[in-house]
Amino acid sequence: MQQQVLLQLSPKDAAQSAAIISEIANQLGVGPEKITGFQFIKKSIDARKRNVLINLKVNAFIDEPFHPTLPTEFRFPDVHASTKKTVIIGAGPAGLFAALELIQQGIKPIIIERGKDVRERRRDLAALNKEGILNEESNYCFGEGGAGTYSDGKLYTRSTKRGNVEKILQLLVQFGATPEILYTAHPHIGTNKLPGIIQSIRELIRMAGGEVHFNEKMTDLKIEDNRIKHITCASGNTFEATHYILATGHSAKDIYLLLDRKNILIEAKPFALGVRIEHPQSLIDAIQYHCPLEQHRDNLLPPAAYQLVEQVNSRGVFSFCMCPGGIIATASTSQNELVVNGWSPSKRNNPFANSGIVAQVNMEDAQDYLKTITPSHTTPTKNTLLFHHFQESVEQKAYEAGGGKFVAPAQRMTDFVNGKVSTTLPNNSYLRGVNSVNMKDILPAFISTSLQQAFKAFGKKMKSYYTEEAIIIAPESRTSSAVRIPRDAETLQHPQINNLYPCAEGAGYAGGIVSAAMDGERVAAAIASKP
Ligand SMILES: Cc1cc2nc3c(=O)[nH]c(=O)nc-3n(C[C@H](O)[C@H](O)[C@H](O)COP(=O)(O)OP(=O)(O)OC[C@H]3O[C@@H](n4cnc5c(N)ncnc54)[C@H](O)[C@@H]3O)c2cc1C
Repeated sequence: MQQQVLLQLSPKDAAQSAAIISEIANQLGVGPEKITGFQFIKKSIDARKRNVLINLKVNAFIDEPFHPTLPTEFRFPDVHASTKKTVIIGAGPAGLFAALELIQQGIKPIIIERGKDVRERRRDLAALNKEGILNEESNYCFGEGGAGTYSDGKLYTRSTKRGNVEKILQLLVQFGATPEILYTAHPHIGTNKLPGIIQSIRELIRMAGGEVHFNEKMTDLKIEDNRIKHITCASGNTFEATHYILATGHSAKDIYLLLDRKNILIEAKPFALGVRIEHPQSLIDAIQYHCPLEQHRDNLLPPAAYQLVEQVNSRGVFSFCMCPGGIIATASTSQNELVVNGWSPSKRNNPFANSGIVAQVNMEDAQDYLKTITPSHTTPTKNTLLFHHFQESVEQKAYEAGGGKFVAPAQRMTDFVNGKVSTTLPNNSYLRGVNSVNMKDILPAFISTSLQQAFKAFGKKMKSYYTEEAIIIAPESRTSSAVRIPRDAETLQHPQINNLYPCAEGAGYAGGIVSAAMDGERVAAAIASKP
């Protein structure tokens, strides 16, 4: 017999099979010798009370041989000779998972990626982190695996209705992720493990007959009779197929400018902007796990995370992409523009906890702000690129304030709230170094005032969060796309260009690794359903 059982155990007991079996037997009223084995279905941490507990849902085998369900093994047919072809622009999670789905449907994917493969890309990241040299085609956002490769690899998503999360996680396991991601409540992979998984996906795509082209940046598209005839890359190479998936992510500003130039419909999309905040991880552990600051958290508990949200004068301010035990990274894609984001290794064992804290930006905000900036800045001619220009302007200001080479402007959180320039800055993880500034001079006023009030409110929700130990580094400006590329809700095709499929984060339909991968699958399935 098999039975699902819910357990609540101490971290120590939850880490020991014998203790789990004993509790299963206890709950079922049988002897422990009757339990032949168990399999995890769900695992989460309950830290609401002083005694932190682990919630487990397990499938227990009672008096019958233990035969656990193995992760699904997906099969990929050979598409070398397939006459059906689709060009995918962008090898991020969306592009790669679209390619896997196309192969499963017998269609040959041809991936065009402006950046380098994961191994080569690592060298460019080292040059950026050590010397402040940015390669505009190969960085934290561009290159094989997209923005998700050198990230924290958090795999949870709120878009569960938009696709099959389970399938994405199972595929990640098939390509090398630990099976634990299938049952933990907040799974993550880590920067050190993601590149290997991405490489395995690429090898499978090529082995099955798909093509993956690196250092190929799409710069033009030829349109005939409302269809793309072919695309052209900076190298001069052209690529042709019956369908085109545009999965270029939210940092490919040149793609929005290209579409705008070609009069291909795009729309302005409100987004959120703010700063990255960093606290000592031990402080966040002490708050979340209710332990004294001087006492290290229970080693069996992971570095603690948090999620915060506050309405400030009807404007949403929220935490974004929290990285326990992480590093703040330079996520810029253009010279003279600064963007920060965060990543963590799989063990999340760095001494700092960072998170984006961002405020919503609406149309009037962006318009008003752009009116106030220097005349030398190009003002938008059309509303479609409004948020794009807003984003660019803040990123340029932040770069200047840092003093160049991607040094970042920074301030103690308490000084920012009190309108005072910090005389000293706390130790932090940002590798390019920080420059003490008054953040109010960089951020638009409505963002500054919203963040100031939100920080105080967060300090009430999480005691000790509001502390002079916390540093803010700016800007966190690429939370989601500032442009939407419209598509038909049913066919997923662009309303003007019949064989163009705007996809995932860059088109405004996803935010995060899993939701982007799901959108890639969805678009590929829509193409496969065409006669
Ligand atoms: C540092 C960092 C940490 C992050 N951490 C997390 C996290 O922990 N969890 C999470 O869910 N999300 C995280 N994110 C966000 C996540 O990475 C993105 O949401 C996700 O990668 C979006 O997937 P995508 O495929 O839509 O686009 P992208 O991943 O942006 O991929 C787009 C690809 O298109 C390529 N491209 C762009 N323009 C062209 C062109 N003209 N021609 C050819 N190729 C082009 C790019 O080089 C890129 O490889 C993080 C992002 C960053 C930068």
